[in-house]
Amino acid sequence: MATVIDGTKLGKEIRDELTSQIAEIGDPPPCLATILVGDDPASAIFVRGKHRACKRNGLLSLDIQLPASTSEAELLARVDELNADASVHGILVQLPLPDAIDEKKIAAAVLPEKDVDGLHPFNVGKLFANEPGRRPGTAEGCIEILDRSGVKIEGARAVVIGRSEIVGKPVAMMLLHRHATVTLCHSRTRDLASIAREADILIVAVGSPRLVKGDWIKPGAAVLDVGTTTIDGKLVGDVDFDAALEVAGLITPVPKGIGPLTIAMLLSNTVAACRAQTGR
Ligand code: NAD
Repeated sequence: MATVIDGTKLGKEIRDELTSQIAEIGDPPPCLATILVGDDPASAIFVRGKHRACKRNGLLSLDIQLPASTSEAELLARVDELNADASVHGILVQLPLPDAIDEKKIAAAVLPEKDVDGLHPFNVGKLFANEPGRRPGTAEGCIEILDRSGVKIEGARAVVIGRSEIVGKPVAMMLLHRHATVTLCHSRTRDLASIAREADILIVAVGSPRLVKGDWIKPGAAVLDVGTTTIDGKLVGDVDFDAALEVAGLITPVPKGIGPLTIAMLLSNTVAACRAQTGR
């Protein structure tokens, strides 16, 4: 029977570790600005969670909500305002954006030092080159779970399913830098099940409910389920949890698995951004 990771507990552990840094920074505390465009209910819930976490940890936050009709030029102008505002240390533009807006253009408009999502090309390059820089919080959260659970990354066979800029690609790169042997799978990968079965560490970030079956999992593997799909008002992961529980060594549930880590790492990135910008 697999060990089930308590993401809420781990997330709190990380947030508690930030407390002394936040106290050292003093007044004014680090400030995170979020921009939400449109009224996607799931995005609204994610953004609310981020503001709640800021408040709980004594960070300031600015909640900018724009209508779905917002143009790319208008959004770029709002990002510019936040870039120029010295009281804002981190900027997060919630994805997905409406189709009329080019997400890459927006990511590139956020100043790299305020890019707490690690999506600016400068930070992407820093990750690729294995140099310090901002990393996407969900990818960082996956590595934190492995480290804090004593999973050995070096030399492990790691399989990542999903190649998004925000999870799959960065986590694959981070595992590679930690000396895992990494396979990055996607929608056109052939024989996904047999590749997954080779994994000591299996990270799934697709958004396809219960895609990964119990017999896709190597006995004893660490299985991190990033996917979240809402079905009948309930969040469902990419892994068939009940079947995986019988085979895996460690597994993250959905919800209360990766989600709280994503938020904790976002706060950590905001604190780091504030320190770098203010020298406090
Ligand atoms: P995305 O939606 O941008 O991309 C999905 C990826 O899955 C693509 O790379 C695609 O090639 C791959 N894919 C699609 N169908 C596949 C299949 N049948 N087999 C193999 N690969 C397939 O991905 P994203 O933004 O990384 O989101 C993935 C999931 O993770 C979503 O459910 C999202 O809600 C969730 N998510 C959760 C958190 C969290 O904090 N818990 C954070 C980010 C994303």
